[in-house]
Amino acid sequence: PEKTSVFNRALLKLSGESFCRSGESGISMTAVAALSQQLKRAYETGVQLAIVTGGGNILRGKEFSAFSKSINAPTAHYMGMLATVINGLALQDALENIGVPTRLQTAIRMEGVAEPFIRRRCVRHLEKGRVVILAAGTGSPFVTTDTAAALRAREIEADIVLKATKVDGIYSEDPMKNPHAVRYPSIKFQDVLSQNLQVMDAQAFHHCMEHKIPIIVFNYQKDGNLDRVLAGEKIGTRVVP
Ligand code: UDP
Repeated sequence: PEKTSVFNRALLKLSGESFCRSGESGISMTAVAALSQQLKRAYETGVQLAIVTGGGNILRGKEFSAFSKSINAPTAHYMGMLATVINGLALQDALENIGVPTRLQTAIRMEGVAEPFIRRRCVRHLEKGRVVILAAGTGSPFVTTDTAAALRAREIEADIVLKATKVDGIYSEDPMKNPHAVRYPSIKFQDVLSQNLQVMDAQAFHHCMEHKIPIIVFNYQKDGNLDRVLAGEKIGTRVVP
């Protein structure tokens, strides 16, 4: 099939909230199946697609450990990483079920469940046209899957980080609070910093800035948006060097 994506290799960050119904937690296979239909169309554009899964629909280490003295922060973060594997498994089946070939790789070894993340093997899968789902974040506590996304993007030499969110992009102010807030079609890394805008977590953002990996923030909840991003349409906000 003809390649229609303007990108060769994209790293898509899917947060945990895309694995459940809006406002709920846990996993909804209805939500995952709907998401997978969008991902299938993305796959059909010919882009090499690696997906980093979040886990916030199940557990976020920081919040969970703040809640009780009975759990140590690192343990809670490991639980969060395992949550991203649960999402990864759900996504893998949903994609395979509609004919999209996938591999699941984890940053924490889990023999019998998934392959370990091995950079060269990941790249090989991508070259062979498999969607690679990357779970368990970085494998280390105290960071988030945004950081994993930024690090992996650099490691596999992705052209772009796609940050799927519930908002249409980056605004001058919070659009919920100020109806006159304007969406930036494109903004420089420097300006995000100087205006104190929120794109990804700070570590992830700095990594992308330092290594000049552009980020596109877009609303994945509008069906077809991922295709539009891959086709090069100017939706969402593009963060550029
Ligand atoms: N996490 C971690 N190390 C990583 C990635 C994730 O410890 O490299 C933990 C962390 O506790 C985080 C949780 O896993 O809160 C779930 O990931 P995240 O919060 O990024 O999920 P999202 O907000 O994208 O749903």
